[in-house]
Amino acid sequence: MELVTKTESVATPNQPKILIVDDVPANLFALEQTLKPLKAQLTRAESGEQALSKVLREDFALILMDVQMPGMDGFETVELMRAYEETKHIPVIFVTAISKEDHFISQGYNSGAVDYLFKPINTTVLLSKVNVFLELAKQRAQLQAVIKENQQMSAHNETVLDCISEGIVSFGADGNIDWANPTAQKLLGFDDKPIKGTSLFSLFYHQENTPPLTWAEFGCSKVIRSKAHVRSSDYLLQRKDHSTFPAEFSMSGFTTDFQKGGVFSFQDITERKWTENELIRLAQEDSLTQLPNRSLFHEFLRVSIQERIRDNGNLALLMLDMDDFKRVNDTLGHDVGDKLLQSVSARIQKSLRQGDLVARLGGDEFGIILPIIRHSDDAGRVAKKILRSFENEHLLDEHHIKVGASIGIANFPEGGQDIKELVKSADTAMYHAKGAGRNSFQFFSEEMQERVLAKDLLEKELVIALEEQQFECYFQPKLDANSQLIGYEALVRWRHPSRGLVYPCEFIELLEETGLVVELGKQMLEMACAQTKAWIDEKLISDNTAVAVNISVKQLSNGLLLRTIEEILAKTGLPPHCLELEVTEYTMMNDIEKAITVLNDIQRLGVAIAVDDFGTGYSSLTYLSKLPVNTLKVDQYFVNGIGKDQNDESIVKATINLAHSLNLKVTAEGVETEEQRQFLITNKVDFLQGYFYSKPKPPRDLEQWIEDNSKRISELI
Ligand code: C2E
Ligand code: CA
Ligand code: CA
Repeated sequence: MELVTKTESVATPNQPKILIVDDVPANLFALEQTLKPLKAQLTRAESGEQALSKVLREDFALILMDVQMPGMDGFETVELMRAYEETKHIPVIFVTAISKEDHFISQGYNSGAVDYLFKPINTTVLLSKVNVFLELAKQRAQLQAVIKENQQMSAHNETVLDCISEGIVSFGADGNIDWANPTAQKLLGFDDKPIKGTSLFSLFYHQENTPPLTWAEFGCSKVIRSKAHVRSSDYLLQRKDHSTFPAEFSMSGFTTDFQKGGVFSFQDITERKWTENELIRLAQEDSLTQLPNRSLFHEFLRVSIQERIRDNGNLALLMLDMDDFKRVNDTLGHDVGDKLLQSVSARIQKSLRQGDLVARLGGDEFGIILPIIRHSDDAGRVAKKILRSFENEHLLDEHHIKVGASIGIANFPEGGQDIKELVKSADTAMYHAKGAGRNSFQFFSEEMQERVLAKDLLEKELVIALEEQQFECYFQPKLDANSQLIGYEALVRWRHPSRGLVYPCEFIELLEETGLVVELGKQMLEMACAQTKAWIDEKLISDNTAVAVNISVKQLSNGLLLRTIEEILAKTGLPPHCLELEVTEYTMMNDIEKAITVLNDIQRLGVAIAVDDFGTGYSSLTYLSKLPVNTLKVDQYFVNGIGKDQNDESIVKATINLAHSLNLKVTAEGVETEEQRQFLITNKVDFLQGYFYSKPKPPRDLEQWIEDNSKRISELI
């Protein structure tokens, strides 16, 4: 049964609803007619009960309530309405014909009425009152919508803040926390305990021994004032229990009409830091020795230099290069070599103080930084200590190995103003130490510096000399026991544009070091071969005469020697048996396997091989039988000892016998005296070379010498 009939007023869904309650349908009708012009939806109820049931289900902006009704009267109805949360605020206008007396009115107000209208109803009054309430209802509805929206938003924000994995706190101008999200509570170890009121500043961990900073100094207040945005990942945050964790945070200040403060959001980056540190460690560590590598070494040196510039102090850089490491590696294998490097690293480290740094820079090279020294010879003491630690044997597997080291020292600032200079100086000093003998150290000095500059200049000049072919071939004859010319050695001379004739002792080493010796070797080979071919063609010499050319390590190791020789022989037309290569023991032993292969190939061409400076290097007699060699050249040092030193004489004799037993020929070089010559010939040396016969000569002079020598011999016969 439909108790409530809709009025005829055209209703739209957004219009406010008015409930009119009266037990007399005619009254209801009259009210409806009066209210028709309003933009409202009218609903009627014919009793208090109906009204109640209606208000509980629908929203009304206003109720016009007849007071006197059978059953539940108007007052009772409103009183009941006031008991429900949903309905208690609906404004009610009582419509009554009864007394206007005060007590009656107050009963209505007590029951929660808002206003009264008395029958007969004045249309204007009714409409204006209803209009006021409708307007109020509209505003209330709007307000409620805003509140609801706010509530939803804040609920949403809260959910977001709850879910977020960053800790977020807000703080006031005094630096005290006034709010924190659950993650912040948890990360900071507050869990359920209140964090509100805690000073934000107290979350930051202070290094011990550093005075605590004040809130103002810390800069949060500055952040607030300037509304700045600060971001950092350099701090440790402190939990409630004082344990710490590295955090990345951002902090922004805000100032509104009501509030000054800031927001601080942070993340625990323990894991990230660990990964970062691990990556840094791996990138900065030498995997074999676990020492810092070159990259960390440079960084440490850079920072140390900056610090010493700031405090006007000194630091020292030591470059250490092991003596004989290569030999150990080659003879005992890489495993032992690796263990030796580890053992050496440990000894160096033990010789240093805390704060010093030793890095492995590669191979058997170590760099040591003493970041702060008081006296310039502090580094010398450290170097001595390190060298002393090298004096004991290393016991590796079953091998007892003793190695030395050469150390070069450069002090900052005297030895160099920046990393590059300092490293170069220490390196230079190290090379000098190497040159000075095993297991020693050298300080970098002014004089060394000058030598370095001179060396740089020399290198530049040598490049030009090779381009402009300033090198010349001098020749020194080799004779047999009957003084017959059997060949000659080609020796380089440099026709320097301003200095005149320069001897190889001044530049060969640098040519070797720079690798330029390869180009020189090529030029020498070509000049020597071309000249010899010309002399053979001119019949100045027989085609059994051989020219000997010196070959350096670099030439032997770069893999191009065989081809170069083939090309030059082809180009000059010299028969291969007229060429001999002089290779020092050292050169051969540098990479014995390679030497055997390369020299075998060359020998197969018909070119002869001589071991130069025999007896000075490693007495590797075992290898001698394996090496493709035709001749041994007894070093002039031993020849020089003939007549003076019995040991030298014995060595010369033994060498000759050894060579002959291996079917090799022997040349004695550096023969200067008749006595030496006699001794050598008596002991069956095959060939002789030295100032006794002739100094190395330029081609034209040698031509003359050859002619003179022939004459001399024929006169003797
Ligand atoms: P080396 O191959 O042992 O050459 C012999 C050196 O002893 C030459 O010095 C020679 O002039 C010198 N000499 C010869 N007879 C006597 C003597 O009776 N008494 C004394 N005291 N010395 C004598 P030089 O020409 O100054 O060459 C020195 C070194 O330079 C050579 O020693 C060789 O190692 C190197 N060298 C010379 N020319 C070349 C070259 O074209 N290529 C390469 N790679 N090295 C070369
Ligand atoms: Ca030689
Ligand atoms: Ca020699």
